[in-house]
Amino acid sequence: MNSKGLIVIVSGPSASGKGTVVSRALEKSDEARVELMLSVSMTTRGIGKNEVDGESYYFVDKDEFERNIADDNLVEYNSYAGEYYGTPRDKVEAWLENGCNVILEIDINGAKQVLEKYPDAVTVYILPPSFQELEYRLRSRGRDSEEKILYRLAKGREEIPEAHWYDYILVNEIIEESADDLLSIIKAEQHRRSRIEYKIDEVLETYGKD
Ligand code: 5GP
Repeated sequence: MNSKGLIVIVSGPSASGKGTVVSRALEKSDEARVELMLSVSMTTRGIGKNEVDGESYYFVDKDEFERNIADDNLVEYNSYAGEYYGTPRDKVEAWLENGCNVILEIDINGAKQVLEKYPDAVTVYILPPSFQELEYRLRSRGRDSEEKILYRLAKGREEIPEAHWYDYILVNEIIEESADDLLSIIKAEQHRRSRIEYKIDEVLETYGKD
């Protein structure tokens, strides 16, 4: 018997809308009959307006983050714009064990670390329709200084070519469509032969039984 959940890695440049796509997919997951949980990351960056501690991230200081690294409590971690970001291990492992699919919204470096430990993780890259749209979205969320906006744009330019090695690419123009597409990807992946092959024997064992 093997019915562990899938790890679904979702990456994309800052302001590509990946957070919104993922939240919408979570809202629609029941209706789509996909069991889905979101891993809340830990970070040392400051909390933004409209963000909630424990929902957007676990906001911690550098000492606490480094204690978590030392205690091996993180599946992966990375630093971005001088701040740490990482995936707490406990919930992710429990959800997978219970057959629940888990979304990790993490950067490329984190994705590579996760793939080393979980080679069958599914990777999805969210592209913005253009850099003009990315800049517009970065400015309109009003969270970052001019310097941070330029940094995030340059980082996007550097990162987007890495989308070439992701399993799936979503161009995020319409949130609702991207959320549906993400759920379709997860559904299809659950039926990939290598993940569900154990069912063949389970069915065969019922042959000739009353
Ligand atoms: P932001 O500050 O815009 O929320 O996130 C900055 C970057 O860090 C984004 O690319 C985001 O995907 C990434 N990130 C968020 N959480 C994690 C995490 O737990 N691990 C890694 N490696 N990257 C993360």
